[in-house]
Amino acid sequence: RLSLGLIPNIKKIEDVMRNFNTKEKALRAGEIVVLGVPLDRNSSFCRGPESAPQFIREALFSESSNLWAEKMIDLGLMSGWRILDDLEFLDQGAEFAKIESRINALLAKKARVVSLGGDHSITYPIIKAYGKRYKNLSILQLDAHPDLYDELEDNRYSHACPFARILEKKLVKRLVQVGIRTLTGHQHEQAKRFGVEIIEMREIDRADEIKFDGPVYLSLDMDCLDPAFAPGVSHHEPGGMSTRAVLQIIQDLRGQLVGADIVEYNPERDPQRITGMVAGKLLKEIMGRMLEENSKNA
Ligand code: MN
Ligand code: MN
Repeated sequence: RLSLGLIPNIKKIEDVMRNFNTKEKALRAGEIVVLGVPLDRNSSFCRGPESAPQFIREALFSESSNLWAEKMIDLGLMSGWRILDDLEFLDQGAEFAKIESRINALLAKKARVVSLGGDHSITYPIIKAYGKRYKNLSILQLDAHPDLYDELEDNRYSHACPFARILEKKLVKRLVQVGIRTLTGHQHEQAKRFGVEIIEMREIDRADEIKFDGPVYLSLDMDCLDPAFAPGVSHHEPGGMSTRAVLQIIQDLRGQLVGADIVEYNPERDPQRITGMVAGKLLKEIMGRMLEENSKNA
């Protein structure tokens, strides 16, 4: 069994998770569910993100830290959120349909889903479900890459293409990308064609101006971070964000956060589990942010 190797008591985490895996019938409106989506078959350069969900959960529960989000939200109270079992992908070719139908079912119960990838291709089927449920949805994508290729290596569903698919189908009102530093001529054309708002890394100060009306979905590609902060990704792209800058964006986000994903964490390239701890911290702050919205609306 894979393990972070940092945690003295794996069994305790499994017990905690089992407690969370209560029947979905009991889901309450607005509840946050963390869903592992271990799929990396659409990666282009190397594989590995398939095993990420388990490592991110272990990092979240690591006894080297605690379960308090920075704005004094205690996730350890274990209310308002839960962890579900990972999706299982047995039939090749049916993966996206499975993701979409599962997210659909959770949204029908008014859950807010935080998906743990997997590579970035999973965001397309997730947004197919979200776009149906939320008519004025905006996406905030943090990424080194725009992921707007029409196709890559003959795969239109590659992790380099999800946002081209999402925008072709007009699933969202608005896509804002932050942290981009790999634009090509083709992707620049695609961005213009689809009306994507891009804040490139070289103009990152403009990220302070972002404001959303209505529901926002956060798609967090771990390679938005500089490889110095998060080396455990498939595509090392220097010149990226600090962990603190990403935390700030999550904490200060102006808009109503209705869902999120954390994708492209590659444990195969993270022997020290440093990036795993970063992903766990980002997950904690995303959930803290969502729970904070709950208490404001209560
Ligand atoms: Mn990406
Ligand atoms: Mn990326």
